[in-house]
Amino acid sequence: MKPINHTVIEFKESIFSTMTKLAIDHEAINLSQGFPDFDGPKWIIDLAKNAMDQGHKLGNVGKNQYAPSAGILPLREAISKNYKRFYNLDFDSANEVVVTNGATEAIFCACMALINPGDEVIVFEPFYDSYLASLKMAGAIVVPVTLKAPAFTFDSEELIAAINSKTKMLILNNPHNPTGKIFTREEIKIIAELARKFDFYILSDEVYEFLTFENSHTPTACFEDLANRTITISSTGKTFGLTGWKIGWACGPKEIIKAIHNVHQFTTFCVAHPLQVAMAEALGKMDDYLINFKSQYRAKRDYLVSGLKNAGFNVLTPAGTYFAMAILKEGENDIEFCQKLIREKKVAVIPTSAFYIKSNAGSGMIRFCFAKTDETLKKAISNLAL
Ligand code: PMP
Ligand code: GLN
Repeated sequence: MKPINHTVIEFKESIFSTMTKLAIDHEAINLSQGFPDFDGPKWIIDLAKNAMDQGHKLGNVGKNQYAPSAGILPLREAISKNYKRFYNLDFDSANEVVVTNGATEAIFCACMALINPGDEVIVFEPFYDSYLASLKMAGAIVVPVTLKAPAFTFDSEELIAAINSKTKMLILNNPHNPTGKIFTREEIKIIAELARKFDFYILSDEVYEFLTFENSHTPTACFEDLANRTITISSTGKTFGLTGWKIGWACGPKEIIKAIHNVHQFTTFCVAHPLQVAMAEALGKMDDYLINFKSQYRAKRDYLVSGLKNAGFNVLTPAGTYFAMAILKEGENDIEFCQKLIREKKVAVIPTSAFYIKSNAGSGMIRFCFAKTDETLKKAISNLAL
């Protein structure tokens, strides 16, 4: 038989799938993969059910049939309105917004749309695992720059040294998974200056934009002169606690969004129609929703962090996301530690070496997810304290 594609054959199972499977096998509490163990708001679920029940009765195009490829207009309008309202950003809903199957598909489509084989892309490590796979499928050369614990800052000399005339794009994830870091204005200004000087794009993954515990989020596209070279990606999975719905999007300059849509059109064509109907309405009701959402997650963060501290972990308090990192003791190894934690404490977490390709710093850290009910968190902490 002739060989399978040499890039894809090398992909391993995602660490998120591996750890969730292990948690199930060991009947352990799952603080590994990032998803809530409770449902998103019932009123949003009811909106989707209603769209499904109504089918053709709600308009000319049946809500159980294909949606327009770029996303239903009410959803693109709701996305565009929120960027204006929250951040004073202008994205034309007709040409500068494309709806995708979660942020993951937006990331893949953006990589395919912008990268030619051999182009170099800067990725800060630790990174969300799909970046590497999407970039490799697009034929990019991935150039990692390591964020240094405990503040997870980058060394600007190291960043400058990683950039050259072949640098096509930089991926910035802010707020940052897995570290919970929020990049400072100064850090983004350094990146902005380099992007202008070396003329590269910025893929800005902002899926945790509403999970910030200190200041509110500032999209990368808000920084001076960055709007014309930034692809802003987000999704509703985290914000509404409905990660299984996979409603995401990419926004940016018209020509780039057209190219991203070209990929999306021939990858999945469109996104689940009734879920788009529900999300279009939900995105218009963010103000009331966010107050409770943020305070709920802040309380979960504080509870987990103080519980872990009391249990003897060297845990870092995250400024954003629903993850917290803990630094292991000298000589401990993340994979062995996680295996032991599942077996002996019945708690599953993520070994962070999975998020690194250059540095071995990840083998000295683990990631906890606190998007869990108070009951789950309490049980996990009491197991860990034993
Ligand atoms: N980016 C980051 C940083 C993530 O953590 C995740 C996963 N939760 C995604 C993108 C993917 O988001 P989605 O579920 O909308 O595809
Ligand atoms: N982003 C989620 C996490 O960091 C998982 C997403 C996935 O399973 N693909 O845990």
